[in-house]
This record gives sequence, structure tokens and C-alpha cells, in this order.
Amino acid sequence: ATPTALMVGVGRGAQLGILVKGPDALEASRRVDTVVLDKTGTVTSGRMTVTEVRPLASRTEHEVLRVAAAVEAASEHPIAAAVVARAALDAPPEVTDFVALPGLGASGVVDGVPVLVGRARLLVENGVDVPPAVAAEVAAAEALGSTVVLAACAAEVAGLLVVRDEVKPSAAEAVRALHEMGLRTVLLTGDNDVTARAVAAEVGIGDVRAGVLPTEKASVIERLRAGGHRVAMVGDGINDAPALATADLGLGIATGTDIALRAADLILVRDDLRVVPDALRLAHRTLGTIR
Ligand code: ADP
Ligand code: MG
Repeated sequence: ATPTALMVGVGRGAQLGILVKGPDALEASRRVDTVVLDKTGTVTSGRMTVTEVRPLASRTEHEVLRVAAAVEAASEHPIAAAVVARAALDAPPEVTDFVALPGLGASGVVDGVPVLVGRARLLVENGVDVPPAVAAEVAAAEALGSTVVLAACAAEVAGLLVVRDEVKPSAAEAVRALHEMGLRTVLLTGDNDVTARAVAAEVGIGDVRAGVLPTEKASVIERLRAGGHRVAMVGDGINDAPALATADLGLGIATGTDIALRAADLILVRDDLRVVPDALRLAHRTLGTIR
């Protein structure tokens, strides 16, 4: 493309709420055939709320929230913020030995007791038995599109927290526009398969890659590229940064974390997913006509 065409593209992008970071971004966006979208914070608002707390093993709701919030107070995950908000403790108990376990949850010691907060897999991997009745409760909430966080104290399941996040109002229309442009869409998430499928169905995405650990998100992009696809990745989180950098074109949501924005080629300033098809059309319009 000529420098003039690129400048026109950058200017039109700015009007649409798209910041173009480098000269290659427009050229790359013209060739994209597959758009991979992160779930939490990209297709959904990322503003999670705890809708239910179910204590187990003769504990009270307050006890479960108190230990879970103590650990989550040290975490940066959107789920953690929801748990802390729901607990609304004046003086949360102190946590020591806090460890963030990306894609799984977090752990720490509260009142001298080891606590795990996260998905069932985290508990199982740490030798905590998840009884079939609990697993069934988890599955039922997930089928409705919720994410379930389990809390374990001293290697025993203490309770479950049902967390929800709303799909962005613009998501279904954005996906429809991408399909009309002949593009293939994929939902990529660390969240479990059942929740991910419920969200994907709500917005019209058929291809779901769920339960993908943060370190594996880039490998999913790499495999799609190895299969001959030109891939755009849309994401917002720290866990999306390697995938954004690996994709032919990385689109970062401006409300996301700095690390994701640094890895992106285009930054979407408005929190409206319809900017994604706009961004891909931008290159066709400017480079396609002016070059
Ligand atoms: P996404 O790809 O949807 O942004 P993540 O990779 O950040 O999701 O996390 C995947 C899953 O791991 C979450 O859906 C949740 O079940 C669990 N998880 C991760 N961090 C936490 C945490 N701090 N507290 C509770 N659960 C967590
Ligand atoms: Mg995200």
C-alpha cells in the first residue's frame, strides 16, 4: 500500500474508534479469514457478579464467602473482584502464601487453613475430593451459562459460588456481520466447555475452544495458522497477550489490560464489538480502492 492509502486508513480508523498501531496492521486485516474471540471481557462484559452462594459440609454462607474473599482479595481476576464485592467484608481476614493459578483459580492460607478457590479441576489436581453431588450442581449451573467457583478449606469442599457475566449487547450483531463477510468465528476461553457453549449459542458462534489455559491460547492460534488460516484474535486480558501477538492481526479491547494492548496491532477504543467487522472492512475500503 502507498503511504497515502495507509494514512487515509489510519484516519478513518480513528473516526470509527480504531487505533492502528503499525503500518502492517491494515494489510494484515485485509487477508484475515478467521476471527477468534476471547470470551470473558471480550464477548461478555467481564463485569462478573456472584448470583448465588451455596455452603456445603455444615458451613454457613458467611464462612464460605469470608475465606473465599480473603484469597480473592489478592487476585486480579474479574471473578475475584465479584467474590470480594459480594462478601463486602469490613475487615477481610489476612491471607498468606497467596498464589495465583492462571486459568484455574488461586490459593492461600487463611486463619492457618489452606484455602483453594477456583474451578473443580484446581481442587482435583490438589487432591481435594469433589463429590458427585457437587459435580452435578456445578454442571447444572454451567449449562445455564454461569461459571462455578468452588472453595475448599483444608482439602475439603466448603461451598460453591455461582458467577455470571452478561454477553455484550453488540456481540450477536458483530458475529452476524463477520459471518456475512464470509469470515469464520471461533470462541476461545479458559472457562469450561459447557459455560462457553451456552455463551457461544447466545451470540451465534459455532466453533468453541474451551478449557484452554492461558499458556495454550497462543498454540490454538498457531494451529489455526498452520492449517492455512489467516487469523485475527480479539482479546482483552493478560492471558490473551501471547495469542494477540501470535495472530496475523491482534485486536485489543481498550478497556482491557495494558499487556494485551501492547501485544495488539489494532486497539478498539469503543466497547462495542461491532467495531471488529468495521476494523476488518476498513482495510478493504481504504487499501482496496486507493492502492
Ligand atoms: P477467560 O479465558 O474466560 O478469560 P481465564 O483463563 O482467566 O478465563 O480463567 C479460566 C477459569 O479459571 C475461570 O473461568 C475460572 O473458572 C477459573 N479461575 C481463574 N482465576 C480464578 C480466580 N481468581 N478465582 C476463581 N476462579 C478462577
Ligand atoms: Mg478475557
